Amino acid sequence: MMEQYLALKAEAGDSLLFFRMGDFYEMFFQDAVAAAGALDIALTKRGQHLGEDIAMCGVPAHSHETYLARLISKGFRVAIAEQVEDPAEAKKRGSKSVVRRAVIRVVTPGTLTEENLLDARSANRLAAIGEAEGRMGLAWCDLSSGEFMTAPVDAALVGAELARLRPAELLLADGREAPAISLASHLVAVRPRADFDSTAGERKLCRRFDVGTLDGFGAFTRAELAAAGALMAFVEATQKDAAVRLRPPARHLPESAMLIDAATRASLELAETMAGSRKGSLLDCIDLTVTGAGARRLGADLAAPLTDPETIARRLDLVGWFVGAPTIRERVRAALKRIADIERALGRLSAGRGSPRDLGLLRDALSGALDLKRLLSESQLGVPAMLADCLDRIGPHGALVEGLAAALVPEPGFSVSDGGFIAEGFDPALDELHGLAQDGRRHIAALEARYRDATGIAALKIRHNNVLGYHVEVSARYADPLMAADSGFTHRQTLAGVVRFNSVDLADLAARIAEASTKALAQETAHFAALRDTVLAEAEAAGETAAALARIDVAAALAELAARGGWVRPEVDASTAFDIRGGRHPVVEAALGTKREAFVANDCDLGPECRLWLLTGPNMAGKSTFLRQNALLAVLAQTGSFVPAASAHIGVVDRLFSRVGASDNLAEGRSTFMVEMVETAAILRQATARSLVILDEVGRGTSTYDGLAIAWAVVEAVHDSLASRCLFATHYHELTVLAERLSAVHLATVKVREWKGELVFLHEVIAGAADRSYGLAVARLAGLPELVTHRASEVLARLEQGKAKTGGIAAGLGDLPLFSAAAPAAPARDALRDALTALRPDEMSPREALDALYDLKRLA
Ligand code: ADP
Repeated sequence: MMEQYLALKAEAGDSLLFFRMGDFYEMFFQDAVAAAGALDIALTKRGQHLGEDIAMCGVPAHSHETYLARLISKGFRVAIAEQVEDPAEAKKRGSKSVVRRAVIRVVTPGTLTEENLLDARSANRLAAIGEAEGRMGLAWCDLSSGEFMTAPVDAALVGAELARLRPAELLLADGREAPAISLASHLVAVRPRADFDSTAGERKLCRRFDVGTLDGFGAFTRAELAAAGALMAFVEATQKDAAVRLRPPARHLPESAMLIDAATRASLELAETMAGSRKGSLLDCIDLTVTGAGARRLGADLAAPLTDPETIARRLDLVGWFVGAPTIRERVRAALKRIADIERALGRLSAGRGSPRDLGLLRDALSGALDLKRLLSESQLGVPAMLADCLDRIGPHGALVEGLAAALVPEPGFSVSDGGFIAEGFDPALDELHGLAQDGRRHIAALEARYRDATGIAALKIRHNNVLGYHVEVSARYADPLMAADSGFTHRQTLAGVVRFNSVDLADLAARIAEASTKALAQETAHFAALRDTVLAEAEAAGETAAALARIDVAAALAELAARGGWVRPEVDASTAFDIRGGRHPVVEAALGTKREAFVANDCDLGPECRLWLLTGPNMAGKSTFLRQNALLAVLAQTGSFVPAASAHIGVVDRLFSRVGASDNLAEGRSTFMVEMVETAAILRQATARSLVILDEVGRGTSTYDGLAIAWAVVEAVHDSLASRCLFATHYHELTVLAERLSAVHLATVKVREWKGELVFLHEVIAGAADRSYGLAVARLAGLPELVTHRASEVLARLEQGKAKTGGIAAGLGDLPLFSAAAPAAPARDALRDALTALRPDEMSPREALDALYDLKRLA
């Protein structure tokens, strides 16, 4: 057996090997040590190998999913080796023969299909990066739902696309450098280069989808085929023979969606907060869907806002229709709530991990879908185009639903081997077998009564357990007469207090029951397989139904959201307008809840004359909130959602960038200022005249002079070269002079009022620049000790005197050459500066320092 184990372990490679032995999965050697630690279970020993004890641990087969979930979440992959023949077969080969085992599946984070191992409301994607002909391509699939897509992608934008997809596992070709994305290293699987061969990939796809050419699915690039081929190879390697269902590949064209890079997603907290939780994100705030599939659809939609005004309008039409029909909306949502997850049930069935319950769930879900279709088709209101589309995609399924309804009991169980899921009347032969078994049980009851009469032992019982099967049981006191040789009973077992016997009649009956039950179970198992095949034959249509339901769920949920929050339909077109009246930040507003100081709505107009706003104002005034709220409004509008505003007119945004100054941003490894500059550089390379750029205190991560200089140059570049729509928040008041030099700069500030020495934030964005920074007032508000704030005011007064004389740090900026790209002049040298540079303050005595000060004074 050890030989067999070692061979399978070699096949499993880096994965832990779950080695099936009876009712347990056992692990040995290093696997056992690692798993016992990760699962906090007992580590034992079993036998020796090469003179050393073999470490071992195990988990019960019936509850192994919980252990799998923990191992997967801790970064392990697990190969499952099952017994693939009946132990009786092995015995036939010889008494020492070991039962054959084989790895039937490798469980990895990106290939899960089990309900217990997945979040119902999130996709679970496996992605691969391919490269061919000097270009790159992505492919991704979700085995739990059958999604399968590819996309061509620019090398510079791989990180952005992966940030959108948030794969559970990423496949990389051996020797390729991992792209700069925030994906934990254990989620990256390095695969042989041969898997990424585009020709082999194409062949694999043709074979899998049984076509001669892939042209019907799309014009894939070689790089996309390379990535898709690697996915196929990985699916085959991990799923072995299971014919997991995947839809034919479809192409996603990056330009059809708003480009949002990883840093922007993080800073806007679209799907997850900076702290990494879904709670508190935009998605969490707007998600009122009532089905898992709807939640996944909304997540995917919000991750990829559209760029085509017509498609956006179609989505908005559908949401608008539901907003105008509150009664239907309520009925639709109530109906959807009862419809189970069709895609995931299909995924489990096709992966060979489905149960009778999945069949029952599909029966109910598909019939629920048909009811919903009827409900909506009967509606007297004319339905919008997208809804008509959705209704067309539902069904027919009538025959399948009827077939399943006739075959199954109302609530089929989780396990085929428990039987009992086929309805009475479906199969007369099966009913007869059930009848025989039941009859047998009745006969046993009769036999028990007869034995009681015959022996006069009123407490005699016929019982059943897994070791003895059916047996007669009496208390020890009455056992003697039954022990007699001619009693008709055979002694089986004596326990404390009771004695157990067998009898010929009982053995007979038991055998009849067992035979009928075994046959019945075989029959039911065959029915299960046949029903599963019928369902899978209709998987494509059922998948369409599921997709239509998800779309309806999303629209009805967004309508519910709009109705509850008083949101309006945005106007989205091909212009470069950005005119928001009375906009609100959905997440901050929701967080304020019913508090007294409700959210203050603000306007924002980034029209051609004022496409770059310089926003000043003290900390805590609401600058960041205002910036982000406008970006979120664009995301929501292009997702096809209503928006929290009085009105919104948005010219389609092709790329969205949001950057937050370094000190707000905690990044590992690199200095925060470095991160800030790297990210700003990406904007300057990638933004276009259709983009929306949000810059929050960029330049703050360095010294005042450097920071101001960088901020200045970035504003100029965004204004002159990129001509993007831009909101720039800064505490460098000096930047406001840019409004005189740059034609499309608009100055805005957040209103505050000082009242009896206290600062009051009004959160109202108005035209103009902040008159000062109110930093001390904010410090006082934050509880800095009186002693310190008092001293700080004295220092500030001095500094401001100095500023009045010299013109402050921005003195001289007024004469900056008009062309921002002018060559830098060499720094001026002078005696004072030289003397100052030569000083070594750390090496001086107080006396020497004082002398040096006098010297400097003389030089000045
Ligand atoms: P800043 O970026 O200017 O430092 P923030 O945008 O972080 O300020 O806002 C500080 C706090 O003020 C927020 O946490 C929020 O609670 C509140 N706030 C901001 N904008 C508004 C608003 N428009 N209405 C009500 N409260 C607001």
